[in-house]
Amino acid sequence: MDIEEASKHFIHVYNRNKIFAKGENVYLYDTEGNKYLDMGAGIAVSALGYSNEEYKQGLKDQIDKIIHTSNLYFNEPAIKAAGYISEASGLDRVFFTNSGTEAIEGAIKLARKYAYLKNKDSKGSIIAMEHSFHGRSMGALSVTGTKHYREPFEPLIGGVSFAEYNNLESVKALVTEDTCAVILETLQGEGGIYPASPEFITGLRKLCDENDILLILDEIQCGMGRTGKMFTYQYYNIKPDILTMAKALGCGVPVGAFAASEKVAEAMCPGDHGTTYGGNPLATAAVCKVFEIYKDKDIVSHVNEISPYLKEKLEALQSKYSSIIKDVRGMGLMYGIELDMPASQVVTEALENNLILISAGSNIIRFVPPLIVEKEHIDTMYNILDKVFGKF
Ligand SMILES: *Cc1c(COP(=O)(O)O)cnc(C)c1O
Repeated sequence: MDIEEASKHFIHVYNRNKIFAKGENVYLYDTEGNKYLDMGAGIAVSALGYSNEEYKQGLKDQIDKIIHTSNLYFNEPAIKAAGYISEASGLDRVFFTNSGTEAIEGAIKLARKYAYLKNKDSKGSIIAMEHSFHGRSMGALSVTGTKHYREPFEPLIGGVSFAEYNNLESVKALVTEDTCAVILETLQGEGGIYPASPEFITGLRKLCDENDILLILDEIQCGMGRTGKMFTYQYYNIKPDILTMAKALGCGVPVGAFAASEKVAEAMCPGDHGTTYGGNPLATAAVCKVFEIYKDKDIVSHVNEISPYLKEKLEALQSKYSSIIKDVRGMGLMYGIELDMPASQVVTEALENNLILISAGSNIIRFVPPLIVEKEHIDTMYNILDKVFGKF
């Protein structure tokens, strides 16, 4: 199979030049059998790496029982998975979706309904952040901070304004009596790996409490243990009113969810929202297995053990190539290095050297490896990057 042939039948929205055929642990193999170290994990999805035996067996067992029933009925894996999410997040009620984008859509609808019940004339305005990314559907795109993603598709949903991330005053300045929600990533991913300051998150929580505005935290990328806590907001001793998750939630099976406190969740009643597939037995069996393996293998502790080493190695690269690497930032196993050159050149050159990297924005390389990554893999990554940066 060649790339030109492969590209023919697709709407061209992705630039891709590899066909991967299988994965094992933290490695991917292309169709020619070449082996690549993966520091992207399918965009922060494959937290357990590839081909985890217990995970695969969980899916196979579920396939043998039942794959789909619809949401006209309960199913056992979904009941269990919702319980795991409630326990891990401290939020009372869960709705399963098929993707992160749909979790955002649901979160926006819930916030709008909550505001509507308080005041039928509320405009349901939402404050979002610059540099944010929440997805590509019309609703999720409306709260995404990158103008050139939005512009060709306007008019989007109305009443959205954008504040500066980590600038509480800039959020306060946008609050009106119509504001129903503030939405942000607890650690911005796609926009360039920008961690929140504790003051910003706790300040937002207070601001929202004082004005009965809902705080929506998008942990689709930074949740599920990636930053060293199950959810990143747990560093700040606060809880969101609505939480969105996806990516590593199913570790490869498409599944997302949003969760809310009882008080907020009860704004929704039968008929307000729904999905055919969302929370189907196969997808939620994956979620159950993921939570069970996280617990058995203590994945989150592993993140905390290994992540200082990733930081150390990235900082070592920065000292060595200080004219190219401008900044190293992140938390846990979610790091970014900001470059003085296009990230795409480094990504391409690294791939030539059997290292999979992904960018975030035009000049930032994002490191979101499988959470099972070990020091030896980070050493391999360092050596390849040393070679790659040496060339530029
Ligand atoms: C990936 C991502 C989304 C969108 O999720 P999809 O599963 O691609 O629809 C939303 N928010 C954040 C923070 C993301 O990283």
